[in-house]
Amino acid sequence: MIEEKLQKHIKRTMILVICIIFVLLTGGGIFSAYLQQAKDKAERAQVIAEAEEYKSRILKQLEADFQTLYTLSVFLDESYTADRELLAERLDEAKDNNAFLTMVYYDKNGEGVISTIGEEPILDAELSQLSSEGQTVIERALSGESSVSRLFESTISKNYIFAYSVPVYDGDEVVGALAASDHIDIFSDILTGNTVLGGGGYIHMLDSDGDFLIRSSKTIVQEDLSSIFEGPYLSEDSREEVRAALQDGERIFSSFSYEGESYPFLLEPVGINGWYLFCVNTGEGLGAASSTSLIVTQVTFILVLILMIFMMIYGYRVLRKYSDDLVRLAYHDSLTGAENLTRFNQRLNKALKTSGGSVAAISIRQFPFLNEIFGKEKTNRLLCLIKDILDKNLNKDEFSCRDTDDRFFIFFKDTDRERVRKRLEKCIDEIDKSSEISRTDYRLVFNCGVAVSEDSGNNEELSDILMNQVPFALDKAKSLNTGTIWFFDTELHKKEEVENYVESYMHQALSDGEFKLFLQPQKNLKSGKIESAEALVRWKTDSGRMIYPDQFIPVFENNGFCTELDLYMVEQVCKKIRSWIDNGIEPISVSVNQSKLLFFEADYVKKLKSLLEKYDVPANLITLEILEGLALENVDELNEKIEQLQKEGFEISLDDFGSGFSSLNTLGKLKINELKLDRDFLLNASNKYKKRIRLIMEEIVHMAGCLGISTVAEGVETPEDEKLIQEIGLNIGQGYLYSRPLSADDFDEKYMK
Ligand code: C2E
Ligand code: MG
Ligand code: MG
Repeated sequence: MIEEKLQKHIKRTMILVICIIFVLLTGGGIFSAYLQQAKDKAERAQVIAEAEEYKSRILKQLEADFQTLYTLSVFLDESYTADRELLAERLDEAKDNNAFLTMVYYDKNGEGVISTIGEEPILDAELSQLSSEGQTVIERALSGESSVSRLFESTISKNYIFAYSVPVYDGDEVVGALAASDHIDIFSDILTGNTVLGGGGYIHMLDSDGDFLIRSSKTIVQEDLSSIFEGPYLSEDSREEVRAALQDGERIFSSFSYEGESYPFLLEPVGINGWYLFCVNTGEGLGAASSTSLIVTQVTFILVLILMIFMMIYGYRVLRKYSDDLVRLAYHDSLTGAENLTRFNQRLNKALKTSGGSVAAISIRQFPFLNEIFGKEKTNRLLCLIKDILDKNLNKDEFSCRDTDDRFFIFFKDTDRERVRKRLEKCIDEIDKSSEISRTDYRLVFNCGVAVSEDSGNNEELSDILMNQVPFALDKAKSLNTGTIWFFDTELHKKEEVENYVESYMHQALSDGEFKLFLQPQKNLKSGKIESAEALVRWKTDSGRMIYPDQFIPVFENNGFCTELDLYMVEQVCKKIRSWIDNGIEPISVSVNQSKLLFFEADYVKKLKSLLEKYDVPANLITLEILEGLALENVDELNEKIEQLQKEGFEISLDDFGSGFSSLNTLGKLKINELKLDRDFLLNASNKYKKRIRLIMEEIVHMAGCLGISTVAEGVETPEDEKLIQEIGLNIGQGYLYSRPLSADDFDEKYMK
């Protein structure tokens, strides 16, 4: 039980801990995912914010350049445009002041001036001298539209450049176009050197085809690429997404991988010419710090988890050990290491579910003296030896335990008494041979009690029954005091149980009136009438159970209680006769059985007399039945008592004649009034000795007749019996043929009306 409870407890605790770990794990996972998400979100927001910032700076730069062009255009009036040299000078000046690569002016006829850094100005330039991008912006300006070109290779400087153009007005009329080209590197100040995400990123600039306009020097991808679609860095899916976004001029977040690492990036449209800012998060810088803190959080969490799991395993082991210790303490005997009775009972219960078996109890005669004679140590060693030898002799599924002191219980999975006996004898023999005590002059004697159960099944009572029976068997073995192996005997036990009950409760029963007067009629064989009866005692217990004289008279004869009970019965008979007389009923004589002890009590006669006086009953209505055993010792003394009683008026009857050592000799000497032939005569009168029995009976009856003794036949059960005793000449018949013993009331009802 303890074991099961502990197991359950441990299991529950473990489940709880596992649940907590699971919750922590899930919680931790969710928390970490949340952190990651929050980090991603924050980083994205940060990248977007920074990209916006760069975008606005680029736009501002462009705006500033346009502003410069607008301002210049305002001053380009006729005085300048007419004078080409002056115009070229002006353009040169403006170019140098504003760090443009080239500055051009074209009038609406397509003739213009070109001022290029490091070169002589061209004063009569044709439009066709410009690159197609240059031509486009000029044409747009001539049609009144300011614009910025795409990136293109300058035909003059052979550099990648782009061009701005603004219209030049005279009043409302467009008279020319002012344009400047610049190296794209003007953005490099913005895009290189500076970094995004606190140093954890970099920015390239792309056009709408994904081709690099500016590549940051901080780039992760070291290969010289001209387009973001070059190389294996974008996955197939990202490629598609990015391409679609570039076409639609939308912002997109995606990622590329490089040397096994994945890098998220943002493509932010600048809003001019399909230009894009390509912002890459390298995971360093500010982002790195938050990544590190995320990793630190995760690692701490995992460490805590590992610690918890470790604690759990450690706790489990400690608990297990603790529970094992508890179980050992609860189920084992500390001296011998054997299991204890509690454990034995549990195992017995289990074992009997599947098969029958025997439980033996073994104990050493006079064990307390062993301690005294040999000392505690040696006796303890003997007990350990017993445990070891029992263990050695047990088969599979058999077990033993030490109960208290020298008492061991053994369960054998065997119900054959002889085999069990032999196995026990073998154990005892081995113990005897191995014990150091046996090597002295002291003779070790073992008593064994065994109870066997053929039955098995899911019934807890089975083991209880066996465990109840064993001590009885052991007590019996002990009482024989010879080193016996005693098997529990159910019949004997029942008898002993009744005896025990009888002895324990007799006094109480007498004072509670549980002893009842029953009467069995006796028939006068001549008159054919019921002229007498025999008083027989019955013990009706409080619970209504009826106990018959056979079960308690022998016990009372042993313990002397018979003397009290017999007098009590005489009193009951006197009471009955008194009530007949008082009720005007002709009383009949009643025989009362008297035990030997009472018969020889000194004041026996006096006690009887006082009872007669108490109820005012004539003594001749009472016959005292004695057993022939009384005459065995001293016939003279017996005769003296008989004479005394007869003098008082009592009749004396010799009961059960022929059942014991009956001798005609004794009969001849005794001065009795009546002889009751034992019912054995009638039992035997129907078998093969019929004739002989009949002869003997005839002889006895004849002799009794001669001595003036009347004869009663006991155990008349059949009409044949009655016929026989009538033929033989007996005077009275008593038996079931006439009636079984009846309660006094029933008897009155039937015979005394
Ligand atoms: P008992 O005095 O020989 O009594 C006759 C017994 O035979 C009674 O048994 C009675 O019930 C039984 N019996 C009568 N007719 C028949 C029959 O036809 N067939 C058979 N098989 N049995 C018959 P019970 O009452 O059980 O008494 C048994 C013995 O107990 C008595 O034998 C007597 O010795 C003793 N006893 C009964 N009452 C007392 C008592 O009050 N005091 C003493 N000391 N002994 C008593
Ligand atoms: Mg009798
Ligand atoms: Mg009898």
